[in-house]
Amino acid sequence: MTTNEKCSFCNTEQSLQTPLIAGIDGHICEACVRLANQVIISWGRKRDIKACFDKQLKPDAIKRKLDEYVIGQDLAKEILSVAVYNHYKRLRDQSADAALNMEHDGVEIGKSNILLLGPSGSGKTLLASTLARIVGVPFAIADATTLTQAGYVGEDVESILVRLLDVAEGNVGRAEWGIVYIDEIDKLARASESAIAVRDVSGEGVQQALLKLVEGTQVKIPSKGRRRDGGEEVILDTSNILFIAGGAFAGLEEHVAKRVKPNQRSIGFAATIHHAKDGIDPGEFLSEVQPGDLRRFGLIPEFIGRFPVLSVLEELDEATLIKILTEPRNALIRQFQKLFAYDNLELQFTDEAISAIARHAIERGTGARGLRAVLENLLRKTMFEAPSNDGIQRVVVDESAVLGLGEIRLEQGETAASRALAGS
Ligand code: ADP
Repeated sequence: MTTNEKCSFCNTEQSLQTPLIAGIDGHICEACVRLANQVIISWGRKRDIKACFDKQLKPDAIKRKLDEYVIGQDLAKEILSVAVYNHYKRLRDQSADAALNMEHDGVEIGKSNILLLGPSGSGKTLLASTLARIVGVPFAIADATTLTQAGYVGEDVESILVRLLDVAEGNVGRAEWGIVYIDEIDKLARASESAIAVRDVSGEGVQQALLKLVEGTQVKIPSKGRRRDGGEEVILDTSNILFIAGGAFAGLEEHVAKRVKPNQRSIGFAATIHHAKDGIDPGEFLSEVQPGDLRRFGLIPEFIGRFPVLSVLEELDEATLIKILTEPRNALIRQFQKLFAYDNLELQFTDEAISAIARHAIERGTGARGLRAVLENLLRKTMFEAPSNDGIQRVVVDESAVLGLGEIRLEQGETAASRALAGS
């Protein structure tokens, strides 16, 4: 009578419930195959982390890179550069870097998620996404308000991770040390004294649901449509995902002002405070924000506690908006010039026109986000007419055109035929 074969790794005996895969000299059971798979994945992750650290930029280098894409916001850039640098140090600490661990035995570096406060269009999303690009990790954006609307919180929280896994092309290991940006986090504030932060309890519910995710938990998510995984579920551990939350926190300055200068209206130096039209200038007070102010605004203390790094972005002024229009690699003016260049048209703006565009965007109150809309509106008619207007070589935008007092100038030049020749 032949004895049953045994798994060469764990010695489990072959049975109907435990079939074995036969090799040349041995056998292996399903449990050992799965275990081996996990071991191999962890090898890959260690390799990835090492590769990431071999090219890891120091905080000042990260900031210089950010400078190429994001104008101004120096303090926020510094804070973010350090936070990200430390975050990835922490990853290395965990990746069985024996020498380092031995030296600081028992010390576990906590996670430093980041809360960005700043007006709409001041560059919060841009900063987070540029950062992810610089350090080369997957990046996903979630909108806190959609989490509220869905009602069933678990589903939506999960969807953030599904997106991250998608960006990581299904590589769980890479997704697990990506960056997630949660926008409009201020909209989750529970109803408070602040007139603007009106939210029902569901906002607070979402804060609660996000707590675990932000802190670090294991979440089962579907890997639908992914050939490699055969549509199965995968488990994603969020403990090493860096969460950056951002919001405008309109009205928060009132809470700060009450704390910083409780008697401001009754004492003499009140006159030195710059009052914006609604009373308090946000820029002046937001830089002094403390966790207690966020609590009074309507964030729950546990939530605030999970975002130990606070950074405030300034409202963009005219000079900064002008720089944004013209300086970054991907500057808007350059983008439009490129669009026109496809039709062999040279697009020119006078300095005064660019200032007027910046002022226009400030009036809209949407920060740098308004710039594109202003340019689109301004150039719409020209973009419609100029391509089929043979003989036009140059499009000149001056201040009067921006102010609506004059027209954009279309200047004659070479013929269409000669342009076509030059372009071929
Ligand atoms: P927020 O998230 O603060 O509302 P965004 O980061 O989405 O603002 O900014 C909207 C757009 O405005 C960006 O895509 C970018 O083109 C431009 N922008 C905003 N702030 C800056 C900045 N500081 N430097 C360069 N561009 C900026």
